[in-house]
Amino acid sequence: MMKEPLSATADHDVVIVGLGPTGATLANILGEYGLDVLVLEREESVYPLPRAVHFDDEAMRVFQSIGLAESIGRDARVNVGTKFVDANMELMLDWSRPQEVGPLGWHPSYRFHQPDLEAELNRGLADRATVAVLRSANVTAVTDHADHVTVSFAHEGAAKSVSARYVVGTDGARSVVRSSMDSGWEDLGFKERWLVIDVQLLKPRPDLGDFTIQTCDRARPTTYVRCPRDWRRWEISLKPEETAEMVTEDSFIWPKLRPPITPEEGAIRRKAVYSFESKLATRWREGRRLIAGDAAHLMPPFLGQGMCTGIRDAANLAWKLVAILKWGAAEAILDSYEMERRDHARIYIETAVSVGEMMNSAETAEALTHAVRPDGSAQMQSINRGLERAIGPADDSFAGMRMPQPQLANGQWLGDAMQGRFAIIGHGAALQAASLPPSHMALAVSADDHDEVAGMLERLGVGSLVLRPDFYCFGAREQADGGSLDTLVGVLRDQLGLAA
Ligand SMILES: Cc1cc2nc3c(=O)[nH]c(=O)nc-3n(C[C@H](O)[C@H](O)[C@H](O)COP(=O)(O)OP(=O)(O)OC[C@H]3O[C@@H](n4cnc5c(N)ncnc54)[C@H](O)[C@@H]3O)c2cc1C
Repeated sequence: MMKEPLSATADHDVVIVGLGPTGATLANILGEYGLDVLVLEREESVYPLPRAVHFDDEAMRVFQSIGLAESIGRDARVNVGTKFVDANMELMLDWSRPQEVGPLGWHPSYRFHQPDLEAELNRGLADRATVAVLRSANVTAVTDHADHVTVSFAHEGAAKSVSARYVVGTDGARSVVRSSMDSGWEDLGFKERWLVIDVQLLKPRPDLGDFTIQTCDRARPTTYVRCPRDWRRWEISLKPEETAEMVTEDSFIWPKLRPPITPEEGAIRRKAVYSFESKLATRWREGRRLIAGDAAHLMPPFLGQGMCTGIRDAANLAWKLVAILKWGAAEAILDSYEMERRDHARIYIETAVSVGEMMNSAETAEALTHAVRPDGSAQMQSINRGLERAIGPADDSFAGMRMPQPQLANGQWLGDAMQGRFAIIGHGAALQAASLPPSHMALAVSADDHDEVAGMLERLGVGSLVLRPDFYCFGAREQADGGSLDTLVGVLRDQLGLAA
């Protein structure tokens, strides 16, 4: 049963400003650890129309960690891939996505209906005893007082305020939390206006197929997306002289929908002009104030990664807040949040921009093939990157690596067994010899007992490793002995500022 907002005390572990997908995911993760969380959201209810239509396996693994993967997966569709066609709708390139479950334990790519996802995230929150959500609460100011932070907001015509140990702004592109900090935008230069049309089919159109169709027509790049149930999405690039009034007229829209559809076959549910931008906040943390999601980065949606990047921010930040508030870690660990997430987000932004530029310019199959597979590889790959810079032992090439998710001998996924903790993975004798962190903070997993775990160590060529709660590697040791594992765990303790 969800906590009553502002019930017992107005003093919280964490106040989250903004209940979009990033804030709702973060609140669920922190609630999973039992932190006292208040979410303040300006709007009265969930926005009923979709913006994002795609998420990846990493997002799904985060949803798994909050017990929502199954219900979210039920409403989503495994993405079959994209067909790139020319201005005459002739096939140029077929980017079929693998249909098998990948190394993370989930399919690499899903199509979803955003209101379904947000409903599930909110349902998850409703079951959490330590998380409260207050809607119609418009945050106006955030002040850091060194040992706590106060958040001021307007609610039902009254000015109110609450205090917390930390505040996280997941309040979108125009973030009030970001504005309260000494942080601005680094503009990475991309700016284009696109018209987004969401249609609900009135008649079956099986011929539209299940693939995304990317029309590479320099005069008018267009994307068609097959969404769940009867939802279909078209995104149409706009020219500078085309005003919002002009392009939201039905007479403009219907002839531009490629592949075509008629008003008898589908009803337009939403038409909106978006300015797609590429921006990174210059600072993601100042003292007790932090930002995540669109408050910290903006990217064009050509990779379907804006929301996914916010979900990765939430997973990265959550365990660091928990380490401080529950495990006794030093506050300095929060410095690693911006260091790890900012460069990682930059890669996704830059890749999204180059995909957009390719869609706008490549008109021949050769140019397109070269643009998407410059290395001549047989199949286009999903973007799948470890952290550029990460905490961990110095010169450890495994630190920050995105890790696979093995199944344990009893069929349980490693992530489920970890329950938000670190995993210390090695052979039985090494685990026994080493001095491990307490079990509320780390799970010891013996490769001797679990074939898939042993296989993972073998493939990586290591004898032991430490996996972080967000499933990136903290570090690994080639040797399988207890002394080597002890050294690795010692580095973890040092970096968290924990006593031995
Ligand atoms: C057309 C389009 C297609 C996209 N497609 C994809 C895709 O396929 N895949 C993908 O991963 N991403 C996609 N994105 C990006 C994705 O939609 C965003 O990255 C994501 O919604 C950001 O989530 P967020 O929670 O960080 O911010 P938001 O969704 O912007 O949520 C911010 C919340 O904060 C609240 N808020 C703001 N100010 C205040 C305040 N002062 N006080 C209280 N509350 C406040 C707002 O009401 C809102 O609920 C797409 C975006 C667009 C526009």
